[in-house]
Amino acid sequence: MDQAQELLQRVFGYPEFRGPQAEIIAHLVAGRDAMVLMPTGGGKSLCYQIPALLRPGCGVVISPLIALMQDQVAALCELDVRAAFLNSALDAAAAAAVEARLLAGQLDLLYIAPERLNTARCLELLARARIALFAIDEAHCVSQWGHDFRPDYLGLSVLHERFPEVPRIALTATADEITRADIRERLQLQDARLFSASFDRPNICYRINAKGSKPSAQLLDFLAQRRGQAGIVYCLSRRSVDETRIWLVQEGFPALAYHAGMDTGARAANQTRFQSEDGILMVATIAFGMGIDKPDVRFVAHLDLPKSIEGYYQETGRAGRDGLPAEAWLLYGIGDIMQQRRWIDESEASEAHQRLSRQKLDALVELCETVDCRRQRLLGYFGESIAPCGNCDNCLTPPATVDASEAARLALSAVYRTGQRFGVLHVIDVLLGKSSERMSSFGHDRLALFGKGRDQPQSFWRGLFRALIGQGLLVANPNLPGTLRLHESARELLNGSSELRVRAAQPR
Ligand code: ADP
Ligand code: ZN
Repeated sequence: MDQAQELLQRVFGYPEFRGPQAEIIAHLVAGRDAMVLMPTGGGKSLCYQIPALLRPGCGVVISPLIALMQDQVAALCELDVRAAFLNSALDAAAAAAVEARLLAGQLDLLYIAPERLNTARCLELLARARIALFAIDEAHCVSQWGHDFRPDYLGLSVLHERFPEVPRIALTATADEITRADIRERLQLQDARLFSASFDRPNICYRINAKGSKPSAQLLDFLAQRRGQAGIVYCLSRRSVDETRIWLVQEGFPALAYHAGMDTGARAANQTRFQSEDGILMVATIAFGMGIDKPDVRFVAHLDLPKSIEGYYQETGRAGRDGLPAEAWLLYGIGDIMQQRRWIDESEASEAHQRLSRQKLDALVELCETVDCRRQRLLGYFGESIAPCGNCDNCLTPPATVDASEAARLALSAVYRTGQRFGVLHVIDVLLGKSSERMSSFGHDRLALFGKGRDQPQSFWRGLFRALIGQGLLVANPNLPGTLRLHESARELLNGSSELRVRAAQPR
């Protein structure tokens, strides 16, 4: 380990190892397999880079994004590490040169795209070379249960069969229990030792707010107090990225856009500006982010609900890599929940996969609805338990709650009486007593509870339905996308043997 320490200082310029890095390195150098869970920015790369330098032969790194591997290779070359990559960005001559260096033993690290590795030609090349280790970065991509499945990753299971004596390390920043188990199985890493660093990012303050009638005004309020700071604003669709950016520019913010519908050059130019200039706002879909290594991103704002806690955590993890105070700010509304539900219901995925997607969405909605510490929920989802954090909205200003059982019973009855085959907005209209042709065509204006909820505004009912969904009392009706039905667990509330407490007033 003295050698590892020496390399850390001389090559990488750091005084000491962080978290489990030293242990992981020793384990790999000894020729054993490892599975590493570490949050984004935790320092995963050194875990395989240093062993690759210490072991004879070249370390082969499988990484899903070309841009990411190019950055890493460029950074390593700056440090005089002999690194190269093989991917579709190279022409035949350049690729042949890299292959020659590998075979001549002149490479310490070689980054390969998974689709390339899967070719017979590439596997034969590796068989002729001396390999120090295989590192499978972003290993959650191998799992269909993960949030970022890449079919090309499935082929990586051959590594163990073709190269049984070469140690392997799989690394990921986001994997819940089921995804972890799947990674081990698919990569045949059942016996690999698990190393995990705490996922906590204590300098990030989490705030989650309900969407009001003007989400743009809420965002503007938030941004106005943070002028001059670099931040990312995530939107769900390309259209809302473009609209939000234009509107932010009109409001005087230096905002750029990034989404998969833009041409590659424009996208890359925006990414470079964001990385190199100060105080830029990047308005983006989740296409933006992997491989961003900008330490001083002060906040990550979500204008729409993500799909899962893993996705949310990965995206918010781009804030505050420098360890200074940073913020994660999310707006979510009932429309978001229903839309995500609809996408799941209408997707081509298998029944099991849809069920899992629903569970993931539910866990995220619970995080949004909770009146307890956000960080406790977040880390709890990844299997870590902590005391209330003191640095999230619920810890800083504990929300007052009220007993909303009566209203909740009315809302559940309205879902039931309308046949459990309508969306939230229609059911709320029934409660508010809104007459329309549509209403009378279903006969809903003749229901005894028609208009029984008039004493509360629509916003109250929306909040209440969010809470009912968040607590799992109302669930998606799988036969009719976009509609809700009662869950078993609603019975206790309906018959008066349990109560429902909700936030007293929706925070702004
Ligand atoms: P990850 O891949 O886990 O997101 P990286 O490997 O890119 O993280 O590391 C994140 C940052 O932390 C990089 O800037 C890296 O140089 C730095 N880093 C990693 N290990 C150490 C260490 N032991 N001491 C100081 N800085 C480190
Ligand atoms: Zn907290």
